[in-house]
Amino acid sequence: MLNATKLTKSFPGDVKAVRNVSISLRPGQIVALVGASGSGKSTLLNLLAGLADADTGEVQFNDERVLGPSEKLVPGHEAIRLVHQEYQLMPNVSVRENIAYALRFFEKSYRNFRVNELLKLCRLTDVQERLPRQVSGGEKQRTAIARAIADKPAVLLLDEPFSHLDLPNRLLVRDLLFDLVRHQPDGVVQTSCLFVTHDTTDALSIADMLGILRDGKLIQLGAPADLYHRPVTAYAARMTGPVTIIKAKHVSLFDLPVSGSPDALVCLRPEQITLSDAGTPGTVRAVYFRGSNFELDVDLSRYVSVRLFTSRNDVQVGQLVHVTLVDAPVWYLKS
Ligand code: ADP
Ligand code: MG
Repeated sequence: MLNATKLTKSFPGDVKAVRNVSISLRPGQIVALVGASGSGKSTLLNLLAGLADADTGEVQFNDERVLGPSEKLVPGHEAIRLVHQEYQLMPNVSVRENIAYALRFFEKSYRNFRVNELLKLCRLTDVQERLPRQVSGGEKQRTAIARAIADKPAVLLLDEPFSHLDLPNRLLVRDLLFDLVRHQPDGVVQTSCLFVTHDTTDALSIADMLGILRDGKLIQLGAPADLYHRPVTAYAARMTGPVTIIKAKHVSLFDLPVSGSPDALVCLRPEQITLSDAGTPGTVRAVYFRGSNFELDVDLSRYVSVRLFTSRNDVQVGQLVHVTLVDAPVWYLKS
């Protein structure tokens, strides 16, 4: 179990990269932290891995303090692995040798066995003899993951594992992480995984817990569905998916009573709004094709535009439509 308590880290120039962050990671758990660029994601990962010294607070692994580089000759912790955003592969040796290097202290026959197993798990068998520059981005990413998990660390930390990948490769890495954490034989110490991302599409689908980072602070932590439906702030709402944020006074457009302050913010997810025969009239401003459905922006007044999904393929920009809110309470944001 990885436990971080009240971690803080500043950089020269009064940059508070991580502020008072506490988080824990149980065996077999997948936690995702989502935040905009510069919100402190990479800095936090370095602290968790023992690769940077915190100003205050501490990281514990199984009740033992994880030492930072100022206290340890070789930085890092044997049970914790961090996969950097830039992969950091050795450029002059093959994919296979990059992975095998992580097992250099093991006996040769086990090393060969384990490397073959990892190549298969990470779908790298066919490219194992190539150099990193001769493989695709997705293959580089999987090589970095294979190397990180080679000696079965208890904790795997990943910095934006999906950000450089195209859709098929994103799905491959997603399934790989899922398999790694979930499908371990009984009796084996379960890996836990924490990854950071600026895009929740991947995070919502595989994480057990989702956290929102803003300006170095962990502003919300909970089950993905909870954060999706009940984000605390407009930032948390936008970080967790497509959303319409309007002032409370405008919910009267939907024939709903306004509760609380008229200037409070309300969060409407696209699936809460549907096209209907009657209801609030509006004009279609934009139509986006999404494959399985369409995303529409509909102007309801000069100030209010809402985003919704529809499977109808006959809706055109400029068309007059009607929308209704599905029958569920609207969610008020804190700011
Ligand atoms: P993210 O990974 O979410 O993009 P980072 O953790 O890289 O965010 O950075 C958080 C903040 O700390 C940013 O404002 C960044 O400029 C600053 N920062 C990160 N590393 C350093 C450093 N080594 N020196 C000075 N400032 C840094
Ligand atoms: Mg980063």
